[in-house]
Amino acid sequence: METVKDVDALSVPEHIPAEGGFVHFFGTRQSPAVLVKTVHVGQVTPVPPDFPSVISVKQVHGKSVLVFDDPLASHATLTQEGDALVTSQPHVLLVVRTADCVPVLFADLQNRVVAAVHAGWRGAVAGIVGETLATLTQRYGTHAEHLRVAIGPSIGPCCFEVDGPVIDPIKAHYPYWAKVISPVSSTHATVDLKEFIVQQLQHQGIALAAISKSAACTQCDASRFFSYRREGRVNGTMLSGIMLKP
Ligand SMILES: [Zn+2]
Repeated sequence: METVKDVDALSVPEHIPAEGGFVHFFGTRQSPAVLVKTVHVGQVTPVPPDFPSVISVKQVHGKSVLVFDDPLASHATLTQEGDALVTSQPHVLLVVRTADCVPVLFADLQNRVVAAVHAGWRGAVAGIVGETLATLTQRYGTHAEHLRVAIGPSIGPCCFEVDGPVIDPIKAHYPYWAKVISPVSSTHATVDLKEFIVQQLQHQGIALAAISKSAACTQCDASRFFSYRREGRVNGTMLSGIMLKP
């Protein structure tokens, strides 16, 4: 039986091959330090020598996919808002920020396209994963068998206890909700957001062997991760990113 591979924070899941020209990471509170210190939301930030153009945009918990296939001017302002970033350009690092939400990185090994997605429960329910897959398929001809997906650290089912406003839309729109939601009382349940992403990917034809999933919980592990829920506010965010090399 196939199993989902585990990914530790900052590790490089081997199923997205570095030798194939893919650079990717899941950050922690402290690292990658060079990016944590310099990357700006809403701007193309040059972070030489490794990252000539870093893209980070305002995230809005929606399902908008932003494509960056045209050359980008250094320090250009990015007014677009969205939760999925896609590029086929080498040396463009796509960055998403999370602090409990799920960072998801995509690599099409054949067509050489990458995507970085910020998926909280709102975006996951809205369909940000499916929208990203649709963009890859329609724009680049991505086939499921060439796709690799890495799911990073997020709040785990150990800590993500919620009530109706979160539970109800998942139950209403996703027939496999029982694999994602575990009731704890008549009104409350825990939700496994990372498994929710895995289920969505599988239902879109992505094989389990092509998916890796971090076991880390951002709320449990205060030494490595910021957590909106634990800290009660946005204290900071982890950066996760993916880039093509020429
Ligand atoms: Zn936890």
